[in-house]
Amino acid sequence: MRIAVLGGTFDPIHNGHLAAAQSVSSTFDTDEVHFVPAYSAPHKQSHESVSAFHRFAMVALATASFEGFRVSTIEVDAMEKRYTVDTLQQMRSNDPQGDLLFILGTDMYLEFETWKNYRSLLGLAHLAVVHRPGFSFREDLAEYRVLHKGERVTLPATPTVFYLPFVEQPVSSTTVRDACRRGSDASASVPPAVWTYINKHQLYS
Ligand code: ATP
Repeated sequence: MRIAVLGGTFDPIHNGHLAAAQSVSSTFDTDEVHFVPAYSAPHKQSHESVSAFHRFAMVALATASFEGFRVSTIEVDAMEKRYTVDTLQQMRSNDPQGDLLFILGTDMYLEFETWKNYRSLLGLAHLAVVHRPGFSFREDLAEYRVLHKGERVTLPATPTVFYLPFVEQPVSSTTVRDACRRGSDASASVPPAVWTYINKHQLYS
């Protein structure tokens, strides 16, 4: 199996997450993309996130209509803070022969060396770093390969860092939450079912 993994707080999931997952899925012809909502996010202390159950539900709604997309319980089941390296280690032991690709935005890659055991993480999975408007790609951390839109990549045997500069989605969860607090319409930034869910449960107002 060729599995891509997109970890996040998903507070809420938005079209930027889906665009990143779709680009990676078509570039690497993945069998599945696993969205992994964090129970609590090691990298985000800036705000109190809504319940992991609500965030999980929104990811389930957003991914339901995409055949290869799955929502994973691996981190929420732990009911405590989990680190990406441990999650990927667990996934690797579930499928030792499979290909693992970890997806992250250029914002997260900029602070990658603050992640727990980031060197081991680089040995566990390929990295698909997707461009996030406003955040440049750092070139100093590891050797990398820049991909072009429409390119189809066969994964090499050794874990590799790939940069996908052609993803252009300026949306963030913060802008969606802020719009909701102001009473503005953020429906263009999230799937319709997620927008309905946010309003039904008054998650960010
Ligand atoms: P917040 O605004 O609360 O910080 P966020 O929009 O960054 O949230 P996360 O759930 O923290 O969303 O992101 C999960 C992963 O998705 C991270 O690796 C992040 O870099 C990536 N990502 C989020 N939004 C985008 C986007 N618009 N384009 C590319 N990658 C993105």
